[in-house]
Amino acid sequence: MTVRTRFAPSPTGYLHLGGLRTALYTYLYARRMGGKFILRIEDTDQEREVPGAVDKIYQSLRLAGLSYDEGPDVGGDYGPYIQTQRRHLYLPYAQELVEKGGAYYCFCTKERLEQARAQAEAKGETFKYDKHCLHLSKEEVRRRLEAGEPYVIRQNVPTTGKASFDDALYGHVEVDCDTLDDNVLIKADGLPTYNFANVIDDHTMGITHVMRGSEYLSSAPKYNLLYQAFGWTPPIYVHLPVVMRDATRKLSKRYGDPSFEDLLDQGYLQEAIINFIALLGWSPRSEREFFTLAELEKVFDLEGLNKSPSIFDMNKLTWFNGEYIRKLSPEQFLEKARPWLEKALDPDRFDFPRIAQLLHTRTEVLSQIPQMVDFLARMPAFDTSLYTHKKMKTNPEVALDALKKLYPVMEGIEDYAEQALHDQLMQAIPQLGLKTGQALWPLRIAISGKESTPGGAIEIAYLLGKEETLRRMAASIAQLEG
Ligand code: GLU
Repeated sequence: MTVRTRFAPSPTGYLHLGGLRTALYTYLYARRMGGKFILRIEDTDQEREVPGAVDKIYQSLRLAGLSYDEGPDVGGDYGPYIQTQRRHLYLPYAQELVEKGGAYYCFCTKERLEQARAQAEAKGETFKYDKHCLHLSKEEVRRRLEAGEPYVIRQNVPTTGKASFDDALYGHVEVDCDTLDDNVLIKADGLPTYNFANVIDDHTMGITHVMRGSEYLSSAPKYNLLYQAFGWTPPIYVHLPVVMRDATRKLSKRYGDPSFEDLLDQGYLQEAIINFIALLGWSPRSEREFFTLAELEKVFDLEGLNKSPSIFDMNKLTWFNGEYIRKLSPEQFLEKARPWLEKALDPDRFDFPRIAQLLHTRTEVLSQIPQMVDFLARMPAFDTSLYTHKKMKTNPEVALDALKKLYPVMEGIEDYAEQALHDQLMQAIPQLGLKTGQALWPLRIAISGKESTPGGAIEIAYLLGKEETLRRMAASIAQLEG
């Protein structure tokens, strides 16, 4: 048996992180088993469709590196892969189901249904369709269809007994049939509902493993009834636990939780996000935490899945991302940092490779970069209390003395290359009767205006260039002199 898995998003917005995790596991399982990974777009609920969302799905999957073997934009033998393009396929199956007794035509008007719903609600009951149209004679159904009356096709759920299915993760799931409603399978517009389309498509596309969110756990027994009514073998179901923001609520865009693309935009690395997401509900059953996508493809298994909801911890992701950043080569880091450096600094004026070197170990998320280097472009206003540092034995008074002594030295330096600058300053400091810390701490504050900076006084002086360094020193001396 060739494993065939599918990711079946509805184009109702952006790909949220829970959806990305489903896509990832679905992809990984297919790869691990040497099978096929299929993308199917479930767009039969046209009212909920968001323009542009399909393209967004392609783009997100591409950015995530989850290439599919079959799908709307890559083709395949089981197409079309967009449900509205398969619309002609569903009705014959629904008619077959009617023949087999698993479904029936329903002509009830909106008014009748609304009234019944209101009555149920008034009694504090959940509305269930009362099977009114199940009892229409074949003759009457034919007559009304021929007369062109609007209709839907409903699933005929048994009123007694139990419906069940087996889930690879949750085990045997069972519900009482009398709690189930006769869901609409084919809507008045001729399109199938998700309830029907997912079954027909999974079957006709030869899907062997259905992986999806646990919100479908309670409906799956009903889908299984459809498989039984058709006499088809159901796929293996793997429902996945929800991804939580914290102990009380689900991850959700509504509360400002980020999407995959948001995280990329914020400067999280694709590889780090994917690795992190993989561990939200799956464990390799070892201490190991770092995996490339290619490595995950070799080790991912259903046995490592966890039934309990997982919590998406942004701080942990940030730490994780920092680890990934540190693993980059200097060249790789420079390439990733460059667009962020350009947000704050003029590339013609600053030595980006050197700045990137200084930032590399201090960066956890790339979006931190502009505010870490902004002081190079613009001297921030600062309080002279920054000159006070116990360990360095400095204060504004010590600083003023040091800066006044250093100014002429700095002015006299001809070779402003970083190493030469370093050597000349380090030689001058003792000659001026200063301690290293008492000179370099004030200098760094005087030319950066910040308590903490990537690089020390010498690196910053080099990056700023002689003219700007002297200008800042003079301004800081003036500030100290009040
Ligand atoms: N279209 C469904 C959704 O986006 C997918 C459910 C499934 O995978 O069967 O939630």
